[in-house]
Amino acid sequence: MREESCIFCKIAAGEIPSKTLYEDEEFRVILDLGPATKGHALILPKNHYRNLFELPDSEAEKVMVLAKKMALQMREKLHCDGFNLVQNNEEVAGQTVFHFHMHLIPRYKGDGQIIGWKPGKPEEAELETVRKTIAEE
Ligand code: AMP
Ligand code: ZN
Repeated sequence: MREESCIFCKIAAGEIPSKTLYEDEEFRVILDLGPATKGHALILPKNHYRNLFELPDSEAEKVMVLAKKMALQMREKLHCDGFNLVQNNEEVAGQTVFHFHMHLIPRYKGDGQIIGWKPGKPEEAELETVRKTIAEE
């Protein structure tokens, strides 16, 4: 399952060279070409899914297991002090390549990177309205 015009399909299939850290039948893990920190990598499924909204459960489960494996390996080998998993879905959320990928970002004390958001200050009633909207049928 692939999309002809998709660069990550070509990278995942090995048709475009990449700095590969790991590969199996379903996934390839590559170094990001514009890394936030040393070791910033991407988990790519070999099948094409636009993003999380299209990712089948069977692959979603494996992505998290693989993310954990890579995080442990990077902590051991790179001696990073922490780790961010980042996964963007659709343009408004920062997605620029429309083939599902999970960012693996090792963090180092003093690395100067900012991955975050500006916290809001909602009233309890507003939180309850949101809770009902999401959770109740
Ligand atoms: P996102 O903004 O979540 O869609 O992330 C896309 C990421 O892919 C960015 O961090 C880019 O630096 C990275 N990227 C784009 N093209 C390539 C490529 N050919 N090889 C490796 N990383 C890439
Ligand atoms: Zn693709």
